[in-house]
Amino acid sequence: MPRVNPAILMYHRIADPPLDPWGLSVSPDVFRDQLEVLSKERQVLSMDAMVDHLLHGSLPKDAVAITFDDGYVDNLLVAKPLLEAAGIPATIFLSTASIGQTEEFWWDLLARMIVLLRGSMGCRFVISGQCIVIDLPALEENGAPRSDWRTDSEPQNARERTYLALWSALQRCRPEQREEHMSELQALFAPSMPSPNDFPMSQEQARRLPSDLISVGGHSRRHHPLTTFPPELRRLEIEGCRRDCARIAGVLPTGFAYPHGDRDADTITLVREAGYNWACSTQHRAINRLSFDLYDLPRIAVGQWSGAEMLWRLERLRT
Ligand SMILES: [Zn+2]
Repeated sequence: MPRVNPAILMYHRIADPPLDPWGLSVSPDVFRDQLEVLSKERQVLSMDAMVDHLLHGSLPKDAVAITFDDGYVDNLLVAKPLLEAAGIPATIFLSTASIGQTEEFWWDLLARMIVLLRGSMGCRFVISGQCIVIDLPALEENGAPRSDWRTDSEPQNARERTYLALWSALQRCRPEQREEHMSELQALFAPSMPSPNDFPMSQEQARRLPSDLISVGGHSRRHHPLTTFPPELRRLEIEGCRRDCARIAGVLPTGFAYPHGDRDADTITLVREAGYNWACSTQHRAINRLSFDLYDLPRIAVGQWSGAEMLWRLERLRT
């Protein structure tokens, strides 16, 4: 008899983007299949209901909650209708400084510029004193880009290696510095027009998000690892995001998701002080109903799994 433990699922996108190096997308058909299996085989609860049951010792062992991080527009246009058709609740964590921006999240824009670059590019690019040599031959000489490349597998060509080098240097920058570097890179690479399907939600779209089944949660303002900020800035990212959600989506969020799962004791205290009742990390495990921290709830990153595979994986989760 397989073990069953409650779990929180973490999604980012319900989409089929041309490139997905971080494996953030589940295609709409697969998501529909996952929802169908979950609604038959599991008790899918809202995050608030899950937390309430946890606190009262009444959480069923087959409980599941669904969450989305970042605020991609497909959460509203694709995921919400599928969730509502299935009668399944979900929480969508918004990174509020990105709401309304008319370009992709920086990691997606960088991937499109570098990995899908057709022409050649040669230059040296300096980020925080680190010189990154960009030496990309034209695509014809290099074969087609692998649209199915994932960062958890070894990069196999100059574009993939360059993307990873730039990403990790940019990831360590202060957000304002990163924005500057991204503008410089855009001027260099002159990427083609982005598709609005790959954007974060607009403010008007974020306002349409909350419903009887869909709740909004906080995911900081600028999606930066919070423990790298000094305390005052960290507070602004956490508290400010809660106020932004109220202003943009019209509801005060009850929950928070740490960007990149990055947290420490001080960050957790700030999240509690900001008025959030619970918070999710990205620790890949099931919930232990006897021993849990409401401000450090584990989550399972969902992949392109059939409904059957999802069940198989849920049954093998440890707490
Ligand atoms: Zn995120």
